[in-house]
Formats: sequence, structure tokens, C-alpha cells
Amino acid sequence: MARYAMKFGGTSVGSPEAIAQVTAIVKDFLAEGHELAVVVSAMAGVTDLLLESAAAAAARDRATFLAINDAVRQKHDRVIEGLIESQQDRLLIDAEVEELLRSHLELCEAVVILGEVTPRISDALVSFGERLSSRVIAAVMRAQALPVRQLDSDAYIVTDNQFGDADPIWNETEARIVGQLQPQLDSDFTPIITGFIGATPDGTMTTLGRGGSDFSAAIFAAYLDCDELIIWTDVDGVMTTDPRLDERARVLPYVSYQEIGELAFYGAKVLHPKTVQPIINRGIPLRVRNTFNPNHQGTLVGARTQASATVIKAVTGIRDVSMLTVSGRGMLGVPGIAGRTFLASANAGANILMISQSSSEQSFCFTVVDPLAQAVKAAVETELQREIQHNNVDSVDVLSDIVIITVVGSGMRGTPGVAGRVFSLLGESRINVLAIAQGSSECSISFIVAEQDLEKAVGELHSLALETVENDRINGLGSPY
Ligand code: ADP
Ligand code: ASP
Ligand code: MG
Repeated sequence: MARYAMKFGGTSVGSPEAIAQVTAIVKDFLAEGHELAVVVSAMAGVTDLLLESAAAAAARDRATFLAINDAVRQKHDRVIEGLIESQQDRLLIDAEVEELLRSHLELCEAVVILGEVTPRISDALVSFGERLSSRVIAAVMRAQALPVRQLDSDAYIVTDNQFGDADPIWNETEARIVGQLQPQLDSDFTPIITGFIGATPDGTMTTLGRGGSDFSAAIFAAYLDCDELIIWTDVDGVMTTDPRLDERARVLPYVSYQEIGELAFYGAKVLHPKTVQPIINRGIPLRVRNTFNPNHQGTLVGARTQASATVIKAVTGIRDVSMLTVSGRGMLGVPGIAGRTFLASANAGANILMISQSSSEQSFCFTVVDPLAQAVKAAVETELQREIQHNNVDSVDVLSDIVIITVVGSGMRGTPGVAGRVFSLLGESRINVLAIAQGSSECSISFIVAEQDLEKAVGELHSLALETVENDRINGLGSPY
């Protein structure tokens, strides 16, 4: 018998058929005598719809948010009608859904009066996605006689007040999970918990950032002292690249915590970048598996570095970013310019994705998401006003229509010539590289190319990854099985 935390993503709970599949998986694990804590996302598309409803309410567009409220109702109604037979059970869950949808409309009406959506209200509005899905899924499972209990995670995950991207307050979260959730698990109930949602110490609802249910599940896995965390999604595991970018993408049998951290940070949507944070020090293994292909072993993520001849395991790409370059001959020897630039960027709300400096110290560049580029440029120019006036800094330039491409693999450490191989390959394909940075962990190299080169660059580098992954397979390396 083992204790698992498992999370089912949006597509995995996106239709009656999918939820039937989720129920079957949970049933199998329980039949084998395991203990489970189940975390669920909103049904596919619902979080986006709820964000649209917030924007519509701020624009006083009542017709749109009423239509969204109805569309969300229909999605959940289809599940109830399709999967719950007893009339009495249906009436009970219908009433719960109806109450939440009414609260959603009330909140939209409040936004109409205010004429704006604050991040705090936006979080309250999107929270309905997980609050609805978890209740409907629990009702479906209960109808199949599974001993489940729906729980809202804002009672357990205590966060700061960074609405939209909140961070847990670890010791308080641990105290709540160990003190209040653990005993319920011991009493033979399987909790069906909302992903994505937390609350500040005074109880105001927050969310952990888009895709944050993975992170929620990892937090529960850590503090419930689970033997394994399983992320159930809509692909067979972590792949050599995004299958939507290159259809040759293959499942990696094993990746390390560090590798998955780099992959997720640099755009592999399959896991939220913070997912490994709570489990890494506890050494809790993580498995990424396909809800729709449960016989596949998926990808195991753990601490060990598997024997492998693979240097480059995977390739990722991030679109919708801009590169800012700060340059000037007079920068040489003026200390602190980079530090002040990054501080000004952070104060403008930007998360810096990649930094690169030329050895001449006459320029450096960094990358932020598109929507913030102009605000960051203005903030940096204000900060460096004096240097610009004295011509020590010439300009702060913004380059858009670029992408960050990252190659990941812990075998790079100690393997000379990887960067050389990567860049000569790109050179041969006539792809111009605008900036380069190596991750501090030495298990990734990132670089910037024009957006139009994305597919070609990923394709070329992915071929390199596939070649070594295939060699590993032939030689029986790189797999934990
Ligand atoms: P969920 O709703 O289950 O959280 P997501 O849509 O957030 O699922 O993440 C799964 C998707 O991530 C896959 O369908 C795939 O298109 C995308 N993806 C991007 N990069 C990778 C990768 N390297 N390996 C696997 N999937 C990836
Ligand atoms: N429902 C949230 C989102 O779409 C969280 C998640 O699915 O992980 O971002
Ligand atoms: Mg996700």
C-alpha cells in the first residue's frame, strides 16, 4: 500500500468521457488498497472563460458574462446528466452548481458597479472553475460508491497576497495540511481537492498562477508525506519537445528534478515551473502520465542522474517575448548599471527570463514577456536617466518578434563542445542567433532567434535530441524501468 497525491488537468476532466476515465483510474488505485489525495483542475477552457467574464464585466458587457455563465453551466450539466443516474443525487449536485454560478454572477455584477477588475476580484472569479469541477467530479465518484469528499484548497494552502501568482507561506500551509487534512485521509476518505486556489492568512482567495494545479498537487504531496506524486495529463509524459511544435516528439522515460525545472521554466507547458519546489528536498518521485492511456508508464522525475549517453534531452521554445538591450561605450567601468536595470525591471513587474552580456561590457540584454516590454524600457530609462544624459548609456532598445529556445540535458555538464555543436548546427541552417545564455545549473543553454526561425531551429535541435535519445534506448540507458 502506498500513499499518492494525484492531479488531473483540464483536458483530463474536460468532458463526461474524460471524467469517467478519471473515476476509473481512482477506483483502480483504491481497489489496490492505496491512499489517495486527488487534486483537480477546472474543466478545459473554463478558466479562460471565467477570465473573459471578468473582462466583460469590467466593460459592462452583461450579455457576454451571462452567456459565459450559461456556457459554464452547460459544461457541468453535461457531466451530471451523463454520469449520475440517481435523480436525487443529481438534484443535490445541481443545487451546489447553481449556487456557485449565482455567486459568479453576483461577483460580475459587483465588477460592473466598480467598472474595473482588481487582481483580487479576478482571482475570486477564476476560482469558480476548480470549485465547480471538484464538486461535480466528487458527485460522480460518490454515485459510483467511492468514499470521496470534496475539499476547497483555500482552507489549506496559505499564501501571500500576490493575486494571480501567489506564493505559499510554507510553515502555515504545512500546519494546516498536517493538522487538518491528514487526519481526514487517515479516516478513509479520499479528498477531491481544488487545484490552483489558495487564500491569504485572513482568508482572501488567491490563485497560484496559470497551470498552478500542478504546484497545488506537489504541495499536498509534500505535506501529506506521499510516496509519489502523479500528474495525469493528456500526453504520455514529458517529451523531447512540445508535440505541437514537432510531431516527432518522443516520451522521455526519465528526467531529473533539475532538468524538469529548466524545461518548465523555459516553456514546456506540461508542468508548472514551481511543481518540483515542494517535493525536491523530500525526494518524492513525480510521474507524468496520460489519463487517456493509463497503461503507459509515463515519465519518472526524480533526484538521480540516470546513466545516459544523451547530452540534449529536450528542446523548448517560448514565444511572445521581447529582448531589451542596454548599450553604451561609457558603461565600461560604471558599476551597478546591470543591477539597477534588473531592479527597475522587477519594479515594473517583469520576470526576467534570460540575461546575456557581451564580454566587452558595452552592452547586455535581457528578455521579458511582450506585454511588459515598453513599461520595462520606460522604467529602465528613468533609472538610467543620468547615465543617458552623460552619454555613458546610449540607449535602451526593444526587439520584438523573437523567441527563446532552450536545450536541456544534465549530460551537458562535463561534456565539452555541446554549445559549439548547437551553434554550428544553427549556423549550417542559416539561423541567426541574437543572444546566448547558459543556465547556472549547466544543464541548459538558451538563446534568442527571430520568431520566424522558431520551427526550423527547434526542428534541427530536436533531431539532435532524438538521435541521442534513440541511442540510449538501443543501449538500454536513460530508463528507470
Ligand atoms: P493539463 O491541462 O493536464 O495541465 P497542459 O495543457 O497544461 O495539461 O499540459 C500538457 C500539454 O503540454 C501537452 O498537451 C503538450 O501539448 C504540452 N507540452 C509542451 N511541451 C511539452 C513537453 N516537452 N512534453 C510534453 N508535453 C508538452
Ligand atoms: N485551471 C487553471 C488554469 O487553467 C489551473 C490549472 O489548470 O492548472 O490555469
Ligand atoms: Mg497544466
